[in-house]
Amino acid sequence: MAADAPPRPGAFLPYGRQAVDEEDIAAVAAVLRGAWLTQGPTVTRFEQAFAQVVGARHAVACANGTAALHLACLALDLKPGDALVVPSVTFLATANAARYCGAEVAFADVDPETGLMGRAQAEAAIARADAAGWRVRALAPVHLAGQAVDLDALADLAGARDLAIIEDACHAVGSRKATHAGDLIPIGACDRSAMACFSFHPVKTIAAGEGGMVTTNDDALAGALRRFVSHGMVRDAAAFQDRNAAFAADGGANPWYYEMPQPGFNYRLTDIQAALGLSQLGKLDRFAHRRAEMVARYDERLAPLAPAIRPAGRSGGRPAWHLYVVLIDFAALGMDRAAAMACLREQGVGSQVHYIPVHRQPYYRARYGDLDLPGAEGWYGACLSLPLFPAMSDGDVDRVVAALERLTGP
Ligand SMILES: *Cc1c(COP(=O)(O)O)cnc(C)c1O
Repeated sequence: MAADAPPRPGAFLPYGRQAVDEEDIAAVAAVLRGAWLTQGPTVTRFEQAFAQVVGARHAVACANGTAALHLACLALDLKPGDALVVPSVTFLATANAARYCGAEVAFADVDPETGLMGRAQAEAAIARADAAGWRVRALAPVHLAGQAVDLDALADLAGARDLAIIEDACHAVGSRKATHAGDLIPIGACDRSAMACFSFHPVKTIAAGEGGMVTTNDDALAGALRRFVSHGMVRDAAAFQDRNAAFAADGGANPWYYEMPQPGFNYRLTDIQAALGLSQLGKLDRFAHRRAEMVARYDERLAPLAPAIRPAGRSGGRPAWHLYVVLIDFAALGMDRAAAMACLREQGVGSQVHYIPVHRQPYYRARYGDLDLPGAEGWYGACLSLPLFPAMSDGDVDRVVAALERLTGP
């Protein structure tokens, strides 16, 4: 049975799950029967299709979303002494990407209603970084749950300070943001950012097993990303530095020759993974549509549970929802989150917390001390992600809501 089968009635509902069907399986099998397993023509097709879907000039595939973020930091040449502004409510990888390059993480607070970093929070983080003597180089806003940050506002701030923007769009494959001019633009189009980073981990909106992508409209950044994704190797004769070694007597480039101006990594995607990603990309609109239907149903069915349980705040645009997050007043329920999660689990409902603020992690506390980020604490104190994946039925949504009702009941 393929993994897009609907959950059996009464079966445990995880907070997220991939939807892989026989067509996806056939696409992967076709690659396995072919000549290329690692990066080859299917990776190229996936990159081209992805660039077209999000409306970017370049898309560079890589091993996972974490590698995508690291590559973006490498392409910007983040170094020790530099800083990257990262909202504290995100996955570990957004912050760690800066540390991989030796740069510091300037943690920003978030809006406690949406979990998103706005301009004011980014400005405060920049001020703290300035005070610490760090050279702030870039902002890394996170489109949490698939909801777009106000990129126009952040881009205005970044422009004034000559900062780059790396969008962590790992939750936002297929999402559209509303510009201040009122247009809907796909996340990843990079109209106001240097780069956007995506993940195709199975809990995300489309799955490649593991997989990542960086989009950009900047040719130089795309060239750097392509270099760093594969050992730092250069095979373009026009870029060779050691002319004597590179060229034969007749002036042609030596056929075996390559150069490494700077070390990179082996962060390549495989054709096996790209086949799954490409097949899934063709279903993105359907997935996003189904997720939006379920979000609307949750919103409607949960309304009577407010204010103790209510949907997280909305930022506009047209999200391809990755998560459905509710904010819960646990004190009003008379139980803590662990008890609430256990109670939901007993009723077959999985849930998850996105995220423990990253600045609280022992590693970052040892490095930066205790930061006061009340918006992140407010979000963390209340957030809970409910099951949301395309194979769920309306009845499954209702079952989750019924389980939540039992939390509020006598
Ligand atoms: C999943 C995720 C990542 C990392 O992606 P992987 O593909 O798991 O490496 C980074 N940032 C955010 C916000 C994510 O959700």
